[in-house]
Amino acid sequence: MSISIKETIKCPSCHEKSEITVWQSITASDSPDLKSDLLKGKINMFVCGVCGQKALFPSPLLYCDDEKKLVISFSPQDDNAKKQQLFDEIKKSSKKSGELENYPDYNLRFVTSYNELLEKILIFDSGFNDKVIEVIKLLVLMQDSEKMAQRVCMFGKSDGAEIEFLVQDRRENQIYTSRVPVSTYETIKVQMRDSGVKFKSFDWEMVDQDYAKSLLRGVNNTL
Ligand SMILES: [Zn+2]
Repeated sequence: MSISIKETIKCPSCHEKSEITVWQSITASDSPDLKSDLLKGKINMFVCGVCGQKALFPSPLLYCDDEKKLVISFSPQDDNAKKQQLFDEIKKSSKKSGELENYPDYNLRFVTSYNELLEKILIFDSGFNDKVIEVIKLLVLMQDSEKMAQRVCMFGKSDGAEIEFLVQDRRENQIYTSRVPVSTYETIKVQMRDSGVKFKSFDWEMVDQDYAKSLLRGVNNTL
């Protein structure tokens, strides 16, 4: 079920007050229009009617897609220490409430950025698993290890034969594309499964670059 509340927000730039619909929960199957707005970056995004200032309303959002067996808990947060704290809290409260029993065999993801939320939806909509995609993203960045720190790699799209990744170089202010055959994805997925990676969650998981790094360290010999 999709749930929203009305909030009054004061524009951070011109201080004009306006009302905004804040979505707390979006269920993809019930609300295809909302999902489409989310993918366009319109959900919980405040645009001031007076000065045009854009800002994300800092409200947690739960995204649920029963068909893809995907639940994403999004809590906007930039600070790494607070991010871990929020993650620990959600794990604890879910355990206490027993709500995870509603999601057998689901992929349960915890994210703290809007881009990450949209990227996860796109990955699963394209029929891929983000655990393999995160490993490939890291391998793409490692191809130019000297520039790794200044680059971000994001899932782009797939035509069925190849997966296109977008590599943003923040220092050079450039965006490159990198293509990886879907057959490589399949090979890495088998290797990950063989090395013990589970492709369903029994709890909330943070599947990001740190996840991929720790995985590559652990299975260095097989990947
Ligand atoms: Zn304004």
